[in-house]
Amino acid sequence: MIADLHCHSYCSDGELAPAAVVARAAQRGVTLLALTDHDSIDGVAEAAAAALLAGIDFVAGVELSCRWEGRDIHIVGLRVDPVSPVLLAGLARQHEARRVRGQQIAARLVKAGVPDCLARACELAGTDRPGRPHFARAIVETGHARDVEHAFNRYLKQGQAAYVPTPWASLEEAVTWVVAAGGVAVVAHPTRYKLTRSKIKRLLTQFAAAGGQALEVQLPGQQLNQTQSLMEMGCQLGLAGSVASDFHGGSSPWSDLGAAGVLVAGIRPVWELFELPAR
Ligand code: MN
Ligand code: MN
Ligand code: MN
Repeated sequence: MIADLHCHSYCSDGELAPAAVVARAAQRGVTLLALTDHDSIDGVAEAAAAALLAGIDFVAGVELSCRWEGRDIHIVGLRVDPVSPVLLAGLARQHEARRVRGQQIAARLVKAGVPDCLARACELAGTDRPGRPHFARAIVETGHARDVEHAFNRYLKQGQAAYVPTPWASLEEAVTWVVAAGGVAVVAHPTRYKLTRSKIKRLLTQFAAAGGQALEVQLPGQQLNQTQSLMEMGCQLGLAGSVASDFHGGSSPWSDLGAAGVLVAGIRPVWELFELPAR
C-alpha cells in the first residue's frame, strides 16, 4: 500500500482540480489518498467520487492553520465528516479571520504609499479573502515592487509595514474541531517550523493532551535522522505516524504525489485508526 495523506487542490493553493489530483495519485501508484486543502473541505466530494472511479481508497481531509506559542502551526484532520457543524463553523471562523486580515493588509499598504490593491488581490485569489501571495502580485502590478519576493521583503513579511498576523484558531481549538468531526488530528510537517527538538516535543505533548492522535513522520526530502527522531517522539507520546507529500502541483518529482515514500517501520500507521469507529 502506498499512502499519501496530505495534498492540495485548487480549492486552496494547489494547481489541479480535486479529480485531477486523484487521477494523478492513482497514476503514480498511490492507493490511499487524503485531500487536505487549507481551511477548506470544498474539494473532498469531487475527490471522493474520482477515487471511487480510479479504484483507490480516499479519506476526506483538511489542513487547519492555528497559532501556538506565537507561531503558525498546521494541523491536518483526516477522515473528517465534511458536514460536521462544528468543523464547518470553525472553517467559517478561519475564513472570516483571513478576510478581515486582507482588509487590514490593504489599509496598511495604502498608508505605506501603495495604491489600494484589495480589489485586485481578491480578484487574483478568486475569493474575498486574499493571502499575501495575492497582495504581492497586486503590488508588483502597481509598480511598487520589482517582483513577488521584493513585495514580500518590502511590505508583507514579518517586521514590514503591511505585515498582519492572522488570528487563527488555537492549537486546542483546531484539534477539537477535527475530533468533533469524527476525524484524526495530525501535526503537519513538524520539521518545517524551525523548532528545536525540545520545542517540537512540547508541541506534540500539548497536541496529544488536546486529543491529537498522530504526526507526519514521512515527508519528501527529509533527512533520515529527522524521520527517525519524529518516529521516536511520536512513539513515546503514543501518537501514530502519517505520510505526507504536501503536493501543490508543479512537476518536481521530489514533491509529487506519493513522493514521501513508505512509512518508516516502528510507528503505528495512522490509517489503522481509520478502521476504528469515529469517536
Ligand atoms: Mn499551501
Ligand atoms: Mn502546511
Ligand atoms: Mn499542506
